[in-house]
Amino acid sequence: MNTIQNKTIAIVGGGPGGLTLARLLQMNGAIVKVYERDVNRSARVQGATLDLHEESGLAAIRAAGLMDAFVANYRPGADKMRVVDKGAAILHDDDAGKNYDEARPEIDRGPLREILLDSLKPDTVVWNSQFAALHKNGTGFDIEFKNGNKYYADIVIGADGANSKIRPYITPIKPVYSGVTALEGAVYDAAENVPEMHTLLNGGKIFALGDDKTIIVSSKGDGSLAFYCGFNAAESWTKDSEIDWSNNEHVLSWFEGAFPGWDPIWAHMISTANAVFIPRPLYYMPLDQQWETLPNLTMIGDAAHLMPPYAGEGVNMAMLDALELSQCLLNESFMNVHDAISAYEKQMLHRASETTAMTLEQTAWMHATGNLDKMMSMFGLQS
Ligand SMILES: Cc1cc2nc3c(=O)[nH]c(=O)nc-3n(C[C@H](O)[C@H](O)[C@H](O)COP(=O)(O)OP(=O)(O)OC[C@H]3O[C@@H](n4cnc5c(N)ncnc54)[C@H](O)[C@@H]3O)c2cc1C
Repeated sequence: MNTIQNKTIAIVGGGPGGLTLARLLQMNGAIVKVYERDVNRSARVQGATLDLHEESGLAAIRAAGLMDAFVANYRPGADKMRVVDKGAAILHDDDAGKNYDEARPEIDRGPLREILLDSLKPDTVVWNSQFAALHKNGTGFDIEFKNGNKYYADIVIGADGANSKIRPYITPIKPVYSGVTALEGAVYDAAENVPEMHTLLNGGKIFALGDDKTIIVSSKGDGSLAFYCGFNAAESWTKDSEIDWSNNEHVLSWFEGAFPGWDPIWAHMISTANAVFIPRPLYYMPLDQQWETLPNLTMIGDAAHLMPPYAGEGVNMAMLDALELSQCLLNESFMNVHDAISAYEKQMLHRASETTAMTLEQTAWMHATGNLDKMMSMFGLQS
């Protein structure tokens, strides 16, 4: 008998981590609910496309029995990458043309969420459930939500992302600012609204590097594009800058000052983008973070090990956490849930520390002078 037999499991947060975990547990007989803040499943899922890695994101998809659904929904060729300079000149064109088992296949966040949701029993996800507080009740918890609802669970798993409200019940360790802030935006119908950028994008991704800044642009399956501009800034910049993120003129005027000498193609993308822009000061968790394992409360994904996006590992780590935690909870050789969580946390913290260190190194050189030379040298080329 595994340690979660007849126990109620509450996963707080229905992002890629939480939904993957729900699927992996439910398909093995566990009693699972996912409490998600979004009002319903059609709430818009934003953000760039995600490349899933063989040993992490794809391993979880495979274990979840969802490879066929993935293959039907991934975006062949979207892993093509162009490296360009601030003048938008193409310096490296990685015309991948690979298929999913050779490369790191890209999938949009929306379809990934749909695949995972479709794999769950009806009513597994309780929408419009913004977590408010946890209260001990016997050996389990009463979970309180902002809408006034309260549910009991024997085991609670925080999968509520970067600003996790579950995390403080596990550890007081806070995220550390990386020194880099990203401004995220999107343009609907890129072919119509930003035709030059659409052509440059060529159905894949653009990495633009120059000065000590980056702009990363991804094409999406719905014809839109997503981008984020990365730059060094004080932690309080988002507040101090007093920019109105719903006003393209305001954002454009900031951009022209902050990215001087960059080709007008970038400014045009900013001025055409759908307001609202999202400024994101990028944080990471300390590499040596540790805590005492709790008997029936743990966390996965960004809640556990937030990191900047510059190594493309966040979703992959969240999905691998889901796989490893499910394997521990379902493992019949553990005496109890506490031991299963302890084994999961030990391997997760070690892996996350290594991945965060690599990501921080990458984030630093991508936002330092000489970033383009370094990127080109990685491809064995000169800029
Ligand atoms: C600009 C940008 C680009 C990125 N690009 C990539 C990339 O290319 N590749 C990659 O691997 N990663 C990328 N990432 C990182 C990636 O988005 C995250 O690592 C990943 O989404 C983490 O998954 P998660 O399930 O842990 O959390 P999330 O995806 O953040 O999901 C958390 C879920 O919890 C819900 N929630 C939050 N608070 C509550 C609450 N109080 N109560 C109930 N529900 C709640 C949210 O609505 C959400 O559905 C990027 C991040 C950013 C910011």
